[in-house]
Amino acid sequence: MAKAWHSRIHMKGQVLYNWPRGWCEERLRLSENTGVQDVLFDVAIIGAGIVGCALAYHLSRFRLKILWLDKNHDVGEGTSKANSAIIHTGFDATPGSLESELVTKASREWPEVARRLQVPLQQTSAMVLALTEEEKALLPELLKKSIQNGVEDVWLITGDEARALEPNISKAVKGALLVERESIIDPFTACSAFAEVAVINGVNLVLGLPVESLSETATGVKTVNCGSGRQFKARTVVNAAGLGSTILGTSYGARPLDINPRRGQFLVYDKTASSAVSRILLPVPNPKTKGILIAPTIFGNIIAGPTAEDLPFDPASTPETTPEGLDLIRSGAARLYPGIVGEPAISAYAGLRCHCRQGQYQITFNDGLNGVVTLTGIRSTGLTVSIALAEFIHRGLERECGLECQPAADAVDGRHEDAGPGWVLHRPFENEVRLHQNPDYAHMICYCEQISRQELIDAIHSPLSPRTIDALRRRTRSASGRCQGFNCLIQIAELISECTGTALNHITRKGPGSEIIMGSTRRQAGI
Ligand SMILES: Cc1cc2nc3c(=O)[nH]c(=O)nc-3n(C[C@H](O)[C@H](O)[C@H](O)COP(=O)(O)OP(=O)(O)OC[C@H]3O[C@@H](n4cnc5c(N)ncnc54)[C@H](O)[C@@H]3O)c2cc1C
Repeated sequence: MAKAWHSRIHMKGQVLYNWPRGWCEERLRLSENTGVQDVLFDVAIIGAGIVGCALAYHLSRFRLKILWLDKNHDVGEGTSKANSAIIHTGFDATPGSLESELVTKASREWPEVARRLQVPLQQTSAMVLALTEEEKALLPELLKKSIQNGVEDVWLITGDEARALEPNISKAVKGALLVERESIIDPFTACSAFAEVAVINGVNLVLGLPVESLSETATGVKTVNCGSGRQFKARTVVNAAGLGSTILGTSYGARPLDINPRRGQFLVYDKTASSAVSRILLPVPNPKTKGILIAPTIFGNIIAGPTAEDLPFDPASTPETTPEGLDLIRSGAARLYPGIVGEPAISAYAGLRCHCRQGQYQITFNDGLNGVVTLTGIRSTGLTVSIALAEFIHRGLERECGLECQPAADAVDGRHEDAGPGWVLHRPFENEVRLHQNPDYAHMICYCEQISRQELIDAIHSPLSPRTIDALRRRTRSASGRCQGFNCLIQIAELISECTGTALNHITRKGPGSEIIMGSTRRQAGI
């Protein structure tokens, strides 16, 4: 039997879960014996959203000892899992801003990075649709802004030209701005691909461990104080904790900034709707929001959203959808594509932008303590910007914090072509050789997305060792289709249990506290 690509690689770093004994294999459990607590790290990164992931990947290619911590139980579990999944060109950014500089740079780099890391990315192009004469009058200004941002492959087109490209858009469209290079991406694989390479290169990733404060010893070494009384030592620290960044910042005297979650809700439509729209459709933006868009997803669905609702700051808040929000999406999307009202929605989700009153991209080196960097206000373009931001932080750490970065000659900077998710190009069950070698590639667990037992097993054994149902969902697409896990959830839980030797009642949706077998279900099952 051919071995999965990752069975042939040597992992220099570790993935450790801060979980009770018996909730995962002992080798994956953070304990006194794992050694990470005795190391003086060069860099500690707090936060494993897309920003932390890209940074860990970038820095892993240098000779640095890196510790990476997140309170969640997988990478990309915060805002990075709930966005529009667009790689922006930066055509509508504020010219001259750091955001504009980073977005335009990153958008040009993404196709090559995605190819190297096996992250699904597709250039679909986008159209900003003007439905009134007033909106049409704003398009030339948008074109001018785009050119100021260095995005020159944009065109003003008429309503009829727009309808020739997208026949299902509203008859009321009077004109449009066509933006060639706008693209869609798999935001989940983006996070896990960065993280896999980082760990292969030697980064130590600890999941399920909240950082509570930072302090400094007399010698200038930083102490990272975590939940469960755990402490780690590092010379420099990057606080990339998203909505958690400012509250953590208060522990080390960081520059005070006012942030609040700006919620964005979305509706996900069935794959039967996918032929209706092939480009990203945007309304003419206003100063607060880009408005309700419709976009194809890389997975073959279409999405509509997001809303823009300012919520009070609450570090414990989890994003939820509301009936009012979903109504707003339906009516906003129907302006652009009236037929969307007849399309079946299969799911809804919400994400929280890190809105900062003082402005986007607040990055402060030597913030409160020497050698500590705080990143906050990475609001609406963080997915795109992540790769350029990582390089920006790296340069700042060298320049401002005295971090010495020597390239590591043996570091890898890509993933094997088999590492790409099976749903994208090479469906394993369609590959006769693979099927002959392992019939489990035809043993379907998730029928909606056609994900086989062996793909799930491969994912369980992949470098980050995902151990929750949601983490596997993000790796493979299992439980992400029409039934949203109604049919396959328990089989996936059983498979994790079987592959890892963990009792079924310790298999969770997203870490301890979210067990899928609880209360009366447990009693009925005799567990
Ligand atoms: C509705 C919406 C639509 C968007 N659309 C797009 C788009 O199309 N394109 C685009 O480029 N961007 C988009 N964005 C923006 C993008 O999603 C964000 O900018 C990006 O995900 C921010 O990443 P992050 O790593 O900073 O934050 P997060 O993903 O939130 O990661 C922060 C991490 O820090 C961890 N953490 C927090 N506190 C602690 C602590 N005390 N200890 C340990 N860990 C901690 C969290 O668990 C989390 O994993 C959108 C955002 C939203 C909400």
